[in-house]
Amino acid sequence: MSLLLPRKGAEIAEDASREDAAFAEERDAEQMEKALEDIGELPEDWQDFVLGRIESQKVAARRRSDEDRKTLDEVFDKSTLLVLYKFINNGYLETLDYPVSTGKEANVFHATTPQGDSVAVKIFRTNTATFRSFMTYIAGDPRFGHVKPNRRDIVYVWAQKEYKNLQRYFEAGVRVPNPIAWRENVLIMEFIGDEGTPAPRVKDAPFDDPAKAYEALVDQYRLGSERGGLVHGDFSEFNILNQGNAPVVIDVAQAVLSHHPMAAELLARDAKNLAAYFRRQGVKVTADETLKRITPPRKEREPIGRDEEE
Ligand code: ADP
Ligand code: MN
Repeated sequence: MSLLLPRKGAEIAEDASREDAAFAEERDAEQMEKALEDIGELPEDWQDFVLGRIESQKVAARRRSDEDRKTLDEVFDKSTLLVLYKFINNGYLETLDYPVSTGKEANVFHATTPQGDSVAVKIFRTNTATFRSFMTYIAGDPRFGHVKPNRRDIVYVWAQKEYKNLQRYFEAGVRVPNPIAWRENVLIMEFIGDEGTPAPRVKDAPFDDPAKAYEALVDQYRLGSERGGLVHGDFSEFNILNQGNAPVVIDVAQAVLSHHPMAAELLARDAKNLAAYFRRQGVKVTADETLKRITPPRKEREPIGRDEEE
């Protein structure tokens, strides 16, 4: 993620405090969070219990490089293990099977539910060095303006923001992973793939029919901006998966509401990236026409949804 600075700091602060109360109420209503509190007393060996559920991961790690092992140690710190323990206890997860991706800010794992279904678990690293840039996106968003600039809290809000953005996109009808649960720095969502094999990124697996895929993505993007009131902000071949030639949009933590101070800038950048990628694939499209097509009509730019209404 690149570092973008907000241009109108004062306005952001005002906007944020105005919506504080609404956000707090919404937070209280998070049923899932309440349900997860109720796990009774922690057994003494709870950490071994959780580690046992990610044993295959550890075995794999032993065969990996020192650097990979260090990454894993950093990801599974005590508080993350406790979150996983709660998810296991509440029946969301049975095992954490293998890493799908190891990034700077988050690691994504394939996991299995007690019912035997595949899910994706995205674990945001609380020791990430890039957390400062998160603030830029969070500060301008009235849903999250209450957050104090503490590293851990920022990462939690970042993960929650991805959860909420996924919900918004999903409800708007955009093909994104269906969000299942969020707590602290851990997000559980629908696994995009086939029989436990993750769908490849468009970067690695271009669409068979680029012109058709471009049309599909413009439609998807517009659904998100018009009905979801969201601007993705990191729309590229790295954050779109190719599932049987149908695009699935991922990595939405940085997506902002359309009245965010940076929304117009991010929308234009998304249009530019989308057009540039498909031009390389031989589709004759321009950034300008793409931007026109993904820009929601003026009157609908104010997002609708429970975030603002309740
Ligand atoms: P980041 O770029 O911040 O590391 P992403 O959300 O882009 O995080 O996820 C990283 C990678 O993990 C993706 O490129 C994709 O390969 C994989 N991935 C992420 N979410 C899913 C999912 N729901 N199902 C399958 N694979 C996923
Ligand atoms: Mn990504």
